[in-house]
Amino acid sequence: MVYDVIVIGGGAAGYFYAINLAAKNRNLKIVILEKQKTVLSKVRVSGGGRCNVTRHCFAPNELVKFYPRGAKELLPLFYGFNPAHTIEWFRERGVELKTEPDGRMFPAANTSRAIIDCFVKEAVKYNIDVMLNTEVNDIEEASGSWKVAAETKVYQAEKIFIGSGNSTKVWGILEKLGHSIVPPVPSLFSFMSGDNFVIGLAGLARDVSINLAGSKLTESGALLFTHQGVSGPAVLKLSSKAARQLAAMNYQFTINVNFLINMNFDDTVSYLKNLKNAEAVRLIRLTKPFDIPQRLWEKLMLWSEINMDTKWKDCPQKKINLLSSALTKLPLHITGKSTNKEEFVTCGGVERKEIEWKRMESKIAKNIFFGGEVIDVDALTGGFNFQAAWTTAFTAADTKNR
Ligand SMILES: Cc1cc2nc3c(=O)[nH]c(=O)nc-3n(C[C@H](O)[C@H](O)[C@H](O)COP(=O)(O)OP(=O)(O)OC[C@H]3O[C@@H](n4cnc5c(N)ncnc54)[C@H](O)[C@@H]3O)c2cc1C
Repeated sequence: MVYDVIVIGGGAAGYFYAINLAAKNRNLKIVILEKQKTVLSKVRVSGGGRCNVTRHCFAPNELVKFYPRGAKELLPLFYGFNPAHTIEWFRERGVELKTEPDGRMFPAANTSRAIIDCFVKEAVKYNIDVMLNTEVNDIEEASGSWKVAAETKVYQAEKIFIGSGNSTKVWGILEKLGHSIVPPVPSLFSFMSGDNFVIGLAGLARDVSINLAGSKLTESGALLFTHQGVSGPAVLKLSSKAARQLAAMNYQFTINVNFLINMNFDDTVSYLKNLKNAEAVRLIRLTKPFDIPQRLWEKLMLWSEINMDTKWKDCPQKKINLLSSALTKLPLHITGKSTNKEEFVTCGGVERKEIEWKRMESKIAKNIFFGGEVIDVDALTGGFNFQAAWTTAFTAADTKNR
């Protein structure tokens, strides 16, 4: 089968590319090859079934701060296509997006179906062929064009767009064609901990800062104690920023938790010394400074070896120091990772230096274009990963960049 363009992968980037390219040139014969029996399956489950399409963050230099890998390369692209363009793109096609208080943007209809229906309708409008159950097994050059071998058929085209997400098979094919693949490791996950400290704290949340012990990597935000360990925005951010280091440590590491974001150990020692004088005859257990929830305060006291019936006046300096440590740099031993169900991405993929970002074209193999998670680009949770897929796919389809 001969086409003008073959799109590998009927996911977010593949559809966005095909539709935008077809809109610019209606004469092109485009085919999407999708290995599964349905298209856009990740979009369907994304954002808990609601699809967090993008983020209410329009300034490119602010937006890139949410991309631990790919910020530098995405910056110029975001001037051409950022969340403001995404909102407009969907609005022009009858899909309104709404903003939640934290800045995440979802279809007003509150279901990922709205996005899928929009893409499928657009693909029909532009006569884009979609082949389901069609897994690509190989790509070969054939005198100035590309041959793409699926299980039962060989497709041929001058151009290929690769939107195969985190497919190891496709990364293998790309390696064979001469590309370097940054080894994939998970990003955006919660931490498991068997530490005694977390037992009995499940459900408790507090704004903290956490530091990866032995490094300068520190993130702040809400920390949520779970039955298995810790989760919440601070943990997800650290898991994303430190994805490679944590994988190299086989997910065995220590984090230091500061429950008093704006105070350090020394500030806390002074504060508690004053409190000791002011509240001398009160039980420490009942004082609860810094608005610390009771369950957490008692855990911190236990960690500091302070008995529950101790009064401030009977608390030796050594234990005040221990309590200050517990409040500002509590070490939690992490023994593994668990997946964040809302959004889960892989970091790693096609080496960014091997892509001509103005066109999203491979520098290694002419007329091969990339978009989405196949590239070594990923972001924090909250709509940024889809935005990267839309922006890279849009740029690849933008013929003025040729
Ligand atoms: C549970 C979950 C929830 C998420 N929620 C959000 C969210 O709300 N907001 C957000 O921004 N991000 C979210 N993400 C991340 C987001 O889904 C991805 O970043 C995005 O889908 C990447 O788009 P893509 O087109 O690169 O890959 P995909 O959407 O994964 O598409 C790749 C497609 O390629 C196909 N394919 C793979 N190999 C082959 C092959 N050999 N031949 C043919 N086809 C092939 C796959 O079947 C798939 O359909 C979520 C991820 C998960 C797992």
